[in-house]
Amino acid sequence: MKKQVLALFMAAVMTGSLTGCGSSTAGPTAGADTTAAETKADAETKAEADTKTEEAAGGVLVMATNAEFPPYEYHDGGSIVGIDVEVAEAIAAKLGMTLEIDDIAFDSIIPELESGKADIGVAGMTVSEDRLKNVDFTDTYTTASQVIIVKEDSDIAGPDDLAGKYIGVQLGTTGDIYASDYEEEGSTIERYNKGFEAVQAMLQGKIDAVVIDVEPAKVFVAQNEGIKILDEPLTVEEYAIAIKKGNTELLDKVNKALGELKESGELQAIIDKYISAE
Ligand code: GLN
Repeated sequence: MKKQVLALFMAAVMTGSLTGCGSSTAGPTAGADTTAAETKADAETKAEADTKTEEAAGGVLVMATNAEFPPYEYHDGGSIVGIDVEVAEAIAAKLGMTLEIDDIAFDSIIPELESGKADIGVAGMTVSEDRLKNVDFTDTYTTASQVIIVKEDSDIAGPDDLAGKYIGVQLGTTGDIYASDYEEEGSTIERYNKGFEAVQAMLQGKIDAVVIDVEPAKVFVAQNEGIKILDEPLTVEEYAIAIKKGNTELLDKVNKALGELKESGELQAIIDKYISAE
């Protein structure tokens, strides 16, 4: 119970100092640094006050994420919430640690893990061979896909029709990587810092399609009139938690916690809370 209260306290502290971060597309690292330092200091002060609590013994687990990715991580009022946040909170609780969220640009997550600024990257992150060169991944925790969003009256009916079109993606995501294959076929890729910015650009007629993960796609389509998701996905993928390469101690601990969450049904319950079955 205490852990939850402290986690909520942390969330409140953090989101208070994070507002500038999420909205800015340029240079998020400087802001993120300050936030991490401040929130760590806050956590330590709180931990000192709470002497001999489990949190103080376990320390802080820093989660790097990009909270522009509903329903996995997004801003809700003053808080960052979502599937990944709850999964990470449950893992931190099992490790006797306090979770701290570092909300940064998606393509800064792996560098933050490499530099040791963050411990875990939890961001609807797809396991890919390329990323495995730079980070380790835990066991996977969910399956996802890349889908195509178009305007309802679009002449794009499937992946083949993307040739020669203007395609919007979120910078550095697997959507970006797969859409970039179409450059050979005369397509132009427009890269945005947030998936939602790509959707807005399509609504404004600047681009023809958006390639993005299926669950955020569903949220963006539900929030906006006149757009739809094509039936045929571009890829099927697996999400996992990224950890600094070679940190097998943390990797093993997180895998153990994740395994327990799968076993107990807690993981599925968290997913079901945010994603209703069709
Ligand atoms: N699953 C995609 C990737 O890993 C997108 C993740 C995201 O935008 N948060 O690249």
